Amino acid sequence: MTFAELKLYPELLQSISDAGYTEPSPIQESVIPAILDGKDVMAAAQTGTGKTAGFTLPVLQLLAKGESAKSNQVRVLVLTPTRELAAQVADNIAKYAKYLKISSYMVCGGVKINPQMLRLRRGVDILVATPGRLLDLMSQNAVKFPELSCLVLDEADRMLDMGFLPDIKRIMQKLPPKRQTLLFSATFSKEITQLSLQFLNNPVSVSVAPANSTADTIKQWVHPVDKKQKSKLLSYLIGHYQWQQVLIFVRTKRGANKLAYDLDKSGIQAAAIHGNKSQGARNRVLKEFKDGQLQALVATDIAARGLDIHQLPHVVNFDLPNVAEDYVHRIGRTGRAGAKGEAVSLVSADEVDNLSAVENLIKTKLKRILIDDFEPLHTVPETHLKSVKKKKPHKKKLARQTDNEKQGASKSGTKKAVFGKKGKSGTGAGGKNDRGKNTKKDSNKPSTRTVKSAQARTSSTTRSEKGAVRRNKIT
Ligand code: AMP
Repeated sequence: MTFAELKLYPELLQSISDAGYTEPSPIQESVIPAILDGKDVMAAAQTGTGKTAGFTLPVLQLLAKGESAKSNQVRVLVLTPTRELAAQVADNIAKYAKYLKISSYMVCGGVKINPQMLRLRRGVDILVATPGRLLDLMSQNAVKFPELSCLVLDEADRMLDMGFLPDIKRIMQKLPPKRQTLLFSATFSKEITQLSLQFLNNPVSVSVAPANSTADTIKQWVHPVDKKQKSKLLSYLIGHYQWQQVLIFVRTKRGANKLAYDLDKSGIQAAAIHGNKSQGARNRVLKEFKDGQLQALVATDIAARGLDIHQLPHVVNFDLPNVAEDYVHRIGRTGRAGAKGEAVSLVSADEVDNLSAVENLIKTKLKRILIDDFEPLHTVPETHLKSVKKKKPHKKKLARQTDNEKQGASKSGTKKAVFGKKGKSGTGAGGKNDRGKNTKKDSNKPSTRTVKSAQARTSSTTRSEKGAVRRNKIT
């Protein structure tokens, strides 16, 4: 399928072509027609699937038909959990809207509110906001919604994780009930489904990958190591493999500061990004990291949520996350848009339960590689995947499969990654070398030893499920 077949306006096709996109991603193929049709949409899509363009392009097209927003009014509201994600979404909107007369603006906390109030006076067609700052602006009558036609909840699962549900409910009360609502979430938990039942009207449900799957383009493995040695091992890995741009996740803000300091001391240019840093500092280090001036960025989960760093090659889990789903979000910073990426986890014995939770979530045992001189004194115990009973497909159910489902499933047979063709070059989670033998690339790593073979690459059946685009009504 082409973007033109999605019946997008020439102005949008031009900006898509300027961005270098040749074909829509599966999520885009699926949500763009539904949104253009005016339907509510509930989409399960990880970051990196092209979901932002998926909702922005049709929303722009719908807005292009109407009049510009009047003073203090907003026509489309996009809510995001973090400031970084808000900034990224706003950048994307500006990029796709450049040939249209549609205004967009971003408001979030951590910066002065007055300039935001001034700008809102002129009215904004698309407002991207984090919930807290939006509520502040609403309480000062700086923003009003009688003209609002569409609400987008981006990364809704993370908004709930971050405790934004009361804020979201307060905002919803002020929005016109007759509107289009689009909800994007990496996972469809019970809470998300409840939210959708409460706020969405007969939504079309779209899913491009089973919840909690990782992109096939990301190669993942684990280095078992003692806790005390982690910092040294990380410096060694960065130096030895000459990683030029590496995003490192840690659990705590203090941990992030300390690790950035340690890395800096060992000659690796590093900085930390987390919620205690001012917005100015967060923007600055992010820019330096994206521009290649910083080799390592040490981040907490919240600060790094939704970051889109072009072709980021390496992600390191210095600590495994407490919540297994965060592993999927973390490593989703690499291997985006069909590019290849590597995700390395440094795991100490006390993290075995976290490791087991991650492996069970992604249904893959991660390859363990010992590094000479960093072998742990405290062995990381063996983990086990919980066996999942495979249900036999029910003949009658298969017969009732909709045309849409069949189409999606057959398309996916040739698509490994969310961005179709490009994904073919990727090595999957647990690639060919995962059976205990080193590939050519691994043989360049003289001091590593594979001690445990990972489960083979996801089976072709699983992969075809991954690519499948399912669209059905929620009842
Ligand atoms: P997102 O999932 O919205 O964070 O997008 C991930 C990345 O994919 C961004 O860098 C987009 O610029 C890029 N992207 C979006 N749509 C496409 C497309 N159709 N083809 C190639 N790249 C895309």
